[in-house]
Amino acid sequence: MSFRLLSVLMLVLSVSVFADGEAKRSCGMDQHLQHLSTMDSTVYARMEQSEKEAMRHQRFRSFMSLEQRQQVRTIPVVVHVVYRNESQNISQKQIDSQIRIINEDFRKKQGSKGHNNNPLGADTFIEFRLATVDPNGNATNGITRTRTNRSSFGADDAIKSSSRGGQDAWDSTRYLNLWVGNLSGGLLGYAQFPDTGSASTDGVVCLYSAFGDTGSVRAPFDLGRTTTHEIGHWLGLRHIWGDGSCSVDDGFSDTPRSDSPNFGKPSHPLLKCNNDNMFENYMDYTDDGAMNIFTMQQSDRMNGVLDTSRSDLLGWNAFGN
Ligand SMILES: [Zn+2]
Repeated sequence: MSFRLLSVLMLVLSVSVFADGEAKRSCGMDQHLQHLSTMDSTVYARMEQSEKEAMRHQRFRSFMSLEQRQQVRTIPVVVHVVYRNESQNISQKQIDSQIRIINEDFRKKQGSKGHNNNPLGADTFIEFRLATVDPNGNATNGITRTRTNRSSFGADDAIKSSSRGGQDAWDSTRYLNLWVGNLSGGLLGYAQFPDTGSASTDGVVCLYSAFGDTGSVRAPFDLGRTTTHEIGHWLGLRHIWGDGSCSVDDGFSDTPRSDSPNFGKPSHPLLKCNNDNMFENYMDYTDDGAMNIFTMQQSDRMNGVLDTSRSDLLGWNAFGN
């Protein structure tokens, strides 16, 4: 077979993989936890401890007044673009689109793709804004750009380290660090769960072509929902099927039990564990276009994390006003 014929054949094959909807969501949360556990065997125990603490505050929040519960909490964000070529060096416009989308999703914004009519659907009152002050107190647009020689990164935190071809974190007690670059093995992103790893690796990583809804994005992960999903982990949420069988739960009674992730764009009823699955949940594995909900309990848990292990993010004059 000629090289030319082989190339044409490979192109047809790769296109058909996409046309069949075979591109499945793949999140590196588990891989990352395994990576952390090779350096520190207490990581799973600390994860459970952190969940207990956040759960206590989740319950505490149910006694708060509506006014207290509806206080908007704005998280300062720094986006670290780590690129080898121009399509990976994503535009300001692409970054802005991602910030807009996480705000729409977390605030269940009316008229946006992040809105839903499910009575369980929450406005989390959590917002995100690019930092205007850097760790040294200087003005910034909240974006760093780093050229790398590495063709791709895995779930081993190399992208978070200048000495390994990535970019060092800004003080992660004060900023949500969002790294954007090329990831290997079909990985769309991964996040560091609260209290599980070092401050120098704390944050969220996302594939450049699954970040925002314009520029270098590629369907079916072209609506910015990978970042919404990963920030959910970063704020203490597990996958909606609890990463186990029907008897393993994600810790929330308002998310139906399931025993496995859902992919693509399913329709109801989707029965697993005698429940119609909530495949629209941001913590499932469906395509971006199928997702639109965090539940009330997921919202209370994330706010519980902001009351506890991540409270320092909100306790400083992040925007210089
Ligand atoms: Zn995940």
